[in-house]
Amino acid sequence: MVSRCLGFGVCRWNGEVLDCRLVDELKNEVDFIPVCPECEIGLGRPRPPILLVQKNSALTLMQPATGLDLTSMMVTFAEKFLQSLPQVDGFFLKCKSPSCGLAGIPIYDTLDAESPLNKNGAGFFAQAVHRFFPDTPKVDEECSDKESFLELFK
Ligand code: SF4
Repeated sequence: MVSRCLGFGVCRWNGEVLDCRLVDELKNEVDFIPVCPECEIGLGRPRPPILLVQKNSALTLMQPATGLDLTSMMVTFAEKFLQSLPQVDGFFLKCKSPSCGLAGIPIYDTLDAESPLNKNGAGFFAQAVHRFFPDTPKVDEECSDKESFLELFK
């Protein structure tokens, strides 16, 4: 499974698609299943950015420009999607995303905070990937070497 913005579709918050050299190199060797969790929960392209926000003891997925709390929609989508996936060899996800990022995602304490509390978060879709597929290989797009990728996912 792969984050759709990594060369498969115009779905980033800013209306862009990323060129991903690794995906280009692997397209003929790997059966990718692309998905954009933010588009799947109905967010537009482009869209105001979203953030991880700590509210009391709960981590939430918020869109500051609209005040929308997207946590429940994202968790519901992620769980349903991941439960319906065919067997996969691994996950190749976009880094630095509050949805797809596997680790190192900033967590804020308010919607308008200028700096994060910490950078210890994982995106909400990625959290579900960790929960449902704890032993399945996962990398983000900073893995740029084809041979290491194929070794990890074989
Ligand atoms: S990082 Fe994930 S949610 Fe964000 S645009 Fe890419 S696929 Fe969609």
